[in-house]
Amino acid sequence: MLVKLRHDGQKIGQFSVDLLEQPSTVMVGPDGDEIYLEWNSTVDDSGHLRGCISCGGEVFREKTFPQITWIVVVLAFAGAVASILGLVTTWLMLIAMAIVLTIDVGILTLSYTRLVCYTCDTRYSKLNIVKYHEPWDSDRSSQIKRSN
Ligand SMILES: [Zn+2]
Repeated sequence: MLVKLRHDGQKIGQFSVDLLEQPSTVMVGPDGDEIYLEWNSTVDDSGHLRGCISCGGEVFREKTFPQITWIVVVLAFAGAVASILGLVTTWLMLIAMAIVLTIDVGILTLSYTRLVCYTCDTRYSKLNIVKYHEPWDSDRSSQIKRSN
């Protein structure tokens, strides 16, 4: 799996780690800083990631593509309105719709689900995500922030 390590909202490095090997330390960043990984209670019985291996915190599930998708929705809507008002020709409209559709398919292909740590914001991708991980929850987030 790919780990994007964060601290105080800043990305401090990334590394790949094998969930089966579970190395106790990894080297990160240009200076080769050694980071200790927490494997106790962060991997479940079936070998899937359950918590943050950087700080031991709780993780949530996140889809990665929302921002660009909204642009596509707005573009499609603007195109539809323009065609209703007769501002564009049918051909121009068809070409525009084809472009929007291509972008949309591209986004869907490139999008993926990742796990993010509530506490340190470290991101985990390229792994199998089990169903019991919930999407981000504001109550849970403030609860965790208060207890730290
Ligand atoms: Zn963490």
